Amino acid sequence: NRRIVLAARPHGEPKPGDLRLEEVPVPQPGPGEVLLRTKWLSLDPYMRGRMSDAKSYAASVEIGAPITAETVGEVVASNNPDFKVGELLTAFAGWQDYFVTDGKGSRRVDPQAAPPSTALGILGMPGMTAYTGLLNIGKPKAGETVVVAAASGPVGSLVGQIAKLKGARAVGIAGGPDKCRYLTEELGFDAAVDHRAPDFAEALARACPQGIDVYFENVGGAVFEAVLPLLNDFARIPVCGLVSAYNLTEVPPGPDQRPALMRMVLTKRLHIQGFIVWDFAAQAEEFRREVGGWLKEGRVRYREDVVDGLEKAPEAFIGMLKGRNFGKLVVRVAP
Ligand code: NDP
Repeated sequence: NRRIVLAARPHGEPKPGDLRLEEVPVPQPGPGEVLLRTKWLSLDPYMRGRMSDAKSYAASVEIGAPITAETVGEVVASNNPDFKVGELLTAFAGWQDYFVTDGKGSRRVDPQAAPPSTALGILGMPGMTAYTGLLNIGKPKAGETVVVAAASGPVGSLVGQIAKLKGARAVGIAGGPDKCRYLTEELGFDAAVDHRAPDFAEALARACPQGIDVYFENVGGAVFEAVLPLLNDFARIPVCGLVSAYNLTEVPPGPDQRPALMRMVLTKRLHIQGFIVWDFAAQAEEFRREVGGWLKEGRVRYREDVVDGLEKAPEAFIGMLKGRNFGKLVVRVAP
């Protein structure tokens, strides 16, 4: 059983030495348990938080333990009559080849219904994040302007597509011309703006001539600063993630912007609400039914960035925090 464990808590960007590949015996399932062989491993930005010991909404990974991750695995041995050998299950197996579970908290994955890796992307946690955060907090109405960054990723791409289905105007922010072209030409976004371009703030203003009614916050930093002056009265801001800050080790230098921000919250009557996808756990069935239906009908699309081999996970993960991925980042651990 190969596994990648936390060797040291990263300071800033994780270094290859912070994550260590090691080999341990394959675990054996006890009574009522099954042995899963990981096929697909999800790499997600939240894992950077788990590598840190800063207090957060979830426990940190212990030094020496495998990095947390959701996976799709095949049942290769079963002591549980509910699960047959050959079935595919989601599990929080972490970055490793094999995992023993009693199946609690797992979902069965039907490879006939959709490619199994989608259980980690558009039909899994990231898709549910987009769906629940946008509809419960963003509440886009027809004719409004919805802006989302990290827009070619699994969360942002679905936010923009759902905004379109609700009749809103979708503006995506992404790094580089290829991702921007993908948003407008393949996903039907109304406009896409490159946050790496020198005239980013002006280009964003041009792309939002009626201002911004919903800003789905995935990144923070310079993108948030460009968005702020464009917000309309009563704008809604679901705060989903702040990926631009995950590797920061100190507050960036500059003036204290809190007073100006709070003044804007007051005068524009902004609704800013942070959320974690599991806050909306009760909507999981509805999410899978509705987005699963849209996917079958071709009304929403997705893109994956597939990396082959568990040993490639650290490099791929480090790259994702810098925008090297193009689409939902997944590792094919076993064929
Ligand atoms: P992505 O696949 O979109 O990967 C992250 C992307 O962030 C990168 O590809 C990069 O895209 C972009 N990015 C990185 N640094 C910057 C920067 N400085 N400025 C602008 N963009 C940057 O990830 P996900 O779709 O999986 O996740 C998107 C966000 O949603 C993350 O913040 C994540 O933490 C959050 N999240 C929150 C959940 C919750 O429950 N609250 C659940 C799931 C995800 P580009 O090349 O376009 O810059």
